[in-house]
Amino acid sequence: MKIEIEKVKKKQLDLSEVEPASHFPVLVAMEAAGECTFTAPVSAKVTAVWEYDHVRATGHVESAARLTCSRCLAEYDLPLTSDFTIFYTEGEDEGSEDEVELSDEELISATYTGDEIDMAPEIAEQVMLEVPYKPLCSESCKGLCPECGADLNAGECGCDRGGINLKMAALKKIKIEK
Ligand SMILES: [Zn+2]
Ligand SMILES: [Zn+2]
Repeated sequence: MKIEIEKVKKKQLDLSEVEPASHFPVLVAMEAAGECTFTAPVSAKVTAVWEYDHVRATGHVESAARLTCSRCLAEYDLPLTSDFTIFYTEGEDEGSEDEVELSDEELISATYTGDEIDMAPEIAEQVMLEVPYKPLCSESCKGLCPECGADLNAGECGCDRGGINLKMAALKKIKIEK
C-alpha cells in the first residue's frame, strides 16, 4: 500500500488492501521463529490526508494468529486488530520513529522521502505488536501440573502439589518485603 504525495496533497485518499502475511518479511520471520502462525491475511484500511506540512494516515489492520499458550501449551486462535495514526513528515532520518500510546490508539510520527510513502512496514509492525509476547489461552489458564503434566484446565489430576511450596513462597515474600 502506497500513499502518493502529489495525490494526497489534492484530496483525501482511502486505501484498502488485503495481503497474505507471507508478503511481509517481519511476519515471515515471526513464523520462522515459531512465535505464531498467521491464519488470516493482513487486511488494512488507511485514510490519508494532507495537513499543513505532513501526511496524516489513520488506519486499521486486522489479521489472526494461531498461538501456543505459554502455560498449558494448548494451541488457540487470536484475532489481531489495531488502530493507529501516523504523522509522516518529509525528512531524511528514515527509520527513526516516535510513538505515543494513547488509550487504544497509537500515535506515531515518522518521516518519508521521495514522492510516495510505502505503508507496508508500518502495517506489518502493527500486526506484529498485537501478537502477545507471552501468549495465554485465557487469563485464568491453570497451566500444566508440574508433577504429572496433566492439563489442569481439564480438571484436577489428584497430585499433591505442595501446600508447603506455597508456604515457602509466602515466607520468601515476607523476607523481601522487610
Ligand atoms: Zn493455557
Ligand atoms: Zn498432576
